[in-house]
Amino acid sequence: MTELAVLLNGLPRVGMATLPTPLEVGPELPGGARLYVKRDDLSGLGMGGNKARKLEYLCGDALAQKADVLVTVGAAQSNHARMTAAAGAVLGIETHVLLGGLKQAPSGNQLLSSLFGAELHFCGSDDWDELEQAMDELIDELARAGRRPYRVPIGGSTAVGATGFAGAWPELMAQCETLNLRPALIVHASSSAGTHGGLLAGRAAMSPNGPPILAIAVAKTGLDLRNEAAHIARACLDRLQLSDVDVRDEDIEVDERWRGPDYAVPTKEADAAIIWAARRGGLVLDRVYTGKAFAGMLGAAEEGRLESGETVIFWHTGGQPAVFAPGGAPELANTISARDEAGSDEREGSEA
Ligand SMILES: *Cc1c(COP(=O)(O)O)cnc(C)c1O
Repeated sequence: MTELAVLLNGLPRVGMATLPTPLEVGPELPGGARLYVKRDDLSGLGMGGNKARKLEYLCGDALAQKADVLVTVGAAQSNHARMTAAAGAVLGIETHVLLGGLKQAPSGNQLLSSLFGAELHFCGSDDWDELEQAMDELIDELARAGRRPYRVPIGGSTAVGATGFAGAWPELMAQCETLNLRPALIVHASSSAGTHGGLLAGRAAMSPNGPPILAIAVAKTGLDLRNEAAHIARACLDRLQLSDVDVRDEDIEVDERWRGPDYAVPTKEADAAIIWAARRGGLVLDRVYTGKAFAGMLGAAEEGRLESGETVIFWHTGGQPAVFAPGGAPELANTISARDEAGSDEREGSEA
C-alpha cells in the first residue's frame, strides 16, 4: 500500500460509492490520440457522478460529528444536491437541499432528490451569496430546534470532500499500470474545484511527475478557479498530514475558453461534443459540465496538443439526470448534420 493509501485509511469515511469506477476505451480523437474514459458517472449512489467520492468523506465527517440532518445547497439542477439526498437516504439521515430558482414541475435531478426523500427548498434567486445565506438561516433554525445539522458546502468542495479525489488518483494510476497506459493528459470539468484540488493533492503526494491534469472551467473564471484548486489541494494535503508536499503552481492548469457566457448556459461547442461522444462512443454527456469539458478536450486535440497515438483520459464526472430536464439535451434538429459529419451516411436509406 502506498503511504497515501495508509493516510486515507485513517480518515472517517462511509463506503457508499461503487469503486473503482471503470476505465474504458473510448473512440479515437481527431488527430489520432487514444481516448480512455474514467467512468465516475458509474460511481453509484443515486445514479452516479463525481460527488459520490466527496460524499463518502463528508458523510464520514458528519457521522463523526454525530450529525442528525444534512443540509446542502446547489443550482436548480444540482447533481450534488441529488447525490447528497441519496447519501441521506442510505444513512437514514434527514436531508434538506436549498436550490436556486423557483419551484418547477419536478424533472431530472430535482425529481430524484424528492424521490430520495430530501426536503427541497427553493430560494428564488440564483445568486450564490443568497443561497449560502439561506443555508445559514436553515442551519440556525434546525440547531435552535435541538437538531445537529451538518453543512455540506456547495459542490462538496472542501478539504474533506476533496479527499475523495486525492484517493481517486492512486485508483487511476493502478488502472493505468494494469493497462500499461502512460496518459499524456487527464481532462475533467471543474466548477467548485474540489475534483481538481483533490486530484492535484493525490498527484503531488504520489506521482508529482505523473500525467498532467487539465481542468475545463464551467462556472468560475480561470484565475479564481486556479486559486481555489490550489487552496483546496493544499488544505487536503494538510488534512492528510502531508503539508510538506508541494503543489506546484505550474501544475495547476485551467482552460476557461469553453464555459461560454455563463454557468449552465449551453454552447455550440459543447452541443457538438455531446453529439460526437454519443454517436462515436455511446457516451451520455450533459450541457452544464461534461459536454463543455469534452469540447475542451476535442479542442486540445484539434489544436495539436495531443499527438497521434498518445493516450488521453477524460474523467466523466456524471451529470446525466440533467439531460432529462427541460433543455437538458441539444436540439434534435442539430443532430442530422452531426450525423452527416460523423460519416455514417451508409446507414441512410437502410430503413426501407
Ligand atoms: C459538480 C460537478 C462537476 C464539477 O466538480 P467540482 O468538484 O465542483 O469542480 C463536474 N461534473 C459534474 C457532472 C458535476 O456534477
